[in-house]
Amino acid sequence: MSYFRSARLPGSSAMLCLFTAAFGLLAAGAARAQTAQPLVDEKTLTRVSDHVYALVGWPNIGIVVGNRATLVIDTGLGARNGATVVRVVQRLAKGPNLYLTTTHYHSEHTTGEQAFPPNTVLIRPTVQQQELNQRLPAHMARFREMSQQNKELLRDVKLRTPDILFDGEMKLDLGGVTARLFCLGPAHTQGDMLIFVEEDSVLIPGDIVESKLFPIMPEEATMKGWLAVLDKLEPLKPRLIVPDHGELGDGSLIAKQRAMLQELQGRALELKRQGKSAEEAGKLLTAELHAKHPDYAQVERIAADVKLVYAEAQ
Ligand SMILES: [Zn+2]
Repeated sequence: MSYFRSARLPGSSAMLCLFTAAFGLLAAGAARAQTAQPLVDEKTLTRVSDHVYALVGWPNIGIVVGNRATLVIDTGLGARNGATVVRVVQRLAKGPNLYLTTTHYHSEHTTGEQAFPPNTVLIRPTVQQQELNQRLPAHMARFREMSQQNKELLRDVKLRTPDILFDGEMKLDLGGVTARLFCLGPAHTQGDMLIFVEEDSVLIPGDIVESKLFPIMPEEATMKGWLAVLDKLEPLKPRLIVPDHGELGDGSLIAKQRAMLQELQGRALELKRQGKSAEEAGKLLTAELHAKHPDYAQVERIAADVKLVYAEAQ
């Protein structure tokens, strides 16, 4: 297990650099292996701040440990990964109460929930639960097609009924540390939720802030909404960010995400004005942005991102 307790001041300590380097290596490996959906691995457990830990992978899974209760953010894909998360949580927990929440409905963030013990309190925004009910079966079907391992992981998924549904925002006092769960509107999905750990100034933004990845925009995503959400998020100025996908970083990840979305949107609209089809623009921008941002992974996402910008401009 890695402990980087002094990763406290963004950009100012050698420990943060070390931390980021370690996180980056693991996250890059995970990004490459995305379609294979690597298993959640206990050895990737990383201490982010006084109360926050992350299991680094695809996705990164956040764990907030208070004196009275522990909050887990996202489950990994299927019960086997969920069980790994639970084992780690049982080692870290200081108090008897366990909360589980999910940043959005996608399979790798939600389908491990059945592995959590019966006393787990599952919390979700109403809008996310509605989207999950509607869309998760098709999302799981797509994931099963990706690999044999996914198929096995997603066998016999049993979803839980949330114990708490909320709208807008809610605070969880975990004992000595407070987690704020909040929604800022549709972005990567319709029901995205973010978590801010107040005492540690750590933001766990789900897929809304990714790190060195071209944006993942499924059909339910909205570029305009995503940019509006980032505008609302900017004043929060978190010290550290644990994105669900990609390397951990400091508060500047929000501006970087915004810049990437704006560049993509701006260039796509320019090409649209020049009369290029969505398909042509997708090809052109895939080459252009890949050359301009060689350190960004998932270049294959760009064509779908461009298509979405075109659709929104109609
Ligand atoms: Zn997602």
